[in-house]
Amino acid sequence: MDQAREQLREVFGFGDFRGRQAEVVERVMDGCSTLGVMPTGAGKSLTYQLPATLLHGTCIVISPLIALMHDQLRAARANGIRAATLTSADADWRETMDAFRAGALDLLYVAPERASQPSFCDLLTAAPLAMFAIDEAHCVSEWGHDFRPDYRQLRPLMDRFGDVPRLALTATADAHTRSDIMAQLGIPDEGLVVAGFERPNIRYAIRHRDNPVRQLTQLMEDHPGPGIIYAPTRRKVEDLAAKLAAATGRPVLPYHAGLEPGTRARHQAEFVASEEVVMVATIAFGMGIDKPDVRFVAHAGIPKSIEAYYQETGRAGRDGDPAQATMLWGAEDFARARMRLAEMPEDRREGDRKRLDTLANLVETAGCRRAILLRHFGEDPPQTCGNCDNCLDAPEVIDATEVARKFLSAAYRTGQSFGFGHLQKVLTGADDERVLAKGHDHLTVFGIVEGEEAALLRPVSRALQARGALVATEHGGLTLGGDARDILKGEASVLMVKPPKQARRGRKSRSG
Ligand code: ADP
Ligand code: ZN
Repeated sequence: MDQAREQLREVFGFGDFRGRQAEVVERVMDGCSTLGVMPTGAGKSLTYQLPATLLHGTCIVISPLIALMHDQLRAARANGIRAATLTSADADWRETMDAFRAGALDLLYVAPERASQPSFCDLLTAAPLAMFAIDEAHCVSEWGHDFRPDYRQLRPLMDRFGDVPRLALTATADAHTRSDIMAQLGIPDEGLVVAGFERPNIRYAIRHRDNPVRQLTQLMEDHPGPGIIYAPTRRKVEDLAAKLAAATGRPVLPYHAGLEPGTRARHQAEFVASEEVVMVATIAFGMGIDKPDVRFVAHAGIPKSIEAYYQETGRAGRDGDPAQATMLWGAEDFARARMRLAEMPEDRREGDRKRLDTLANLVETAGCRRAILLRHFGEDPPQTCGNCDNCLDAPEVIDATEVARKFLSAAYRTGQSFGFGHLQKVLTGADDERVLAKGHDHLTVFGIVEGEEAALLRPVSRALQARGALVATEHGGLTLGGDARDILKGEASVLMVKPPKQARRGRKSRSG
């Protein structure tokens, strides 16, 4: 490893390894296949580029995006590494192949499609190989969020060169995807290195969204520094930006793909240069932006996945100073996400459903948020972190199983086609025209909820939707899903955070 450290200084100009880079490099140098799971920006490329400059032979790098490959190529060449790409966008593939055969390449970048071409396999037998590096390795798994069938051809190819070590790299892999990657690519169990997902200076908080403008105004008042607020649609971005600017008097700028490129660039530049600008943006914003002093990141609705949440909140507090990550969520967010899930091709659905369940769990938990996040990324965190909303102010947990069963059976007995309002009327025995017209006053569930339980109906409906036991249809009807039947049979319970006492506000809140 002394040699590797020296090379790190001389070729890459870095004083030391970061995170668990050293471990990965050492394994690969010893010829051991490895899966490195590290967040974006952790320095994954170095873990194959460095061994490639030291080991005998060429390192074959599989990378899914040509644009990405060419960036990497430029960076590698700038460090004096002998590198080339072999893609459909290259005109000089003949020279590249000659250079490879002559053993004059440290790195050869190729797209996964190559792997299934016999001519490529032949080429690889023509010169010694140092290692295989598989970038974005989650693409090999149907459990990952970006499955690419071509990645499945890598294993047969690599098996032809059985003693050449494999290094798979990814930023996003939950436990299930990870073991799948290792199985699919032939990496032994002890070859897993997970690192660097902990961001101790970020304080996580997740709240129900009851009045987003008021809630975000409060957040901005608590955090005078620069911030990013993610909103789900362009319209919501515009709307929130205008309202928050008016409410706080602070500079608040919108950012989304529908803005003029010039406006977008100007807003981004203003944000990067400023110590107080708040950017309200769609997820189009953030990639490649390096602003270390972002003091808060807020989500006005649930993020796309737990990976996205980690990545987006990770833009806060890169300077290491305290920063806040706040998410506001509503049941309709989960309803929409579960509807999208139902429209997906079957083979993709399972993994995405799991990810959504984890997100629901993160939102619903009375326990430590960070523990859920870190466990998802394969780390082994303590039970409490002391720096998330639930650790700082432990919420009271109630057992809402009985109310949940009543609610689910009302949904079931009314034919799984009515929304919250109607079910609430049935359960509380309301004297309502539509309830009577449908004959729902004759059901056994009519009027079985009263008093304290009635106040729990909305939060219970929300919790059931988040965990997928209730699924909203396009027409607003609630159908049973997930573990609804287990709850009804008394085999699963519904524990939830005790909802805060709210002043009755008529029917204004539509976020049930
Ligand atoms: P990833 O692929 O994990 O997203 P990159 O490989 O692009 O990350 O590296 C992110 C940045 O970190 C790059 O600018 C790289 O030069 C830098 N970097 C990598 N390793 C080190 C190190 N040991 N010390 C300092 N900077 C590093
Ligand atoms: Zn915590």
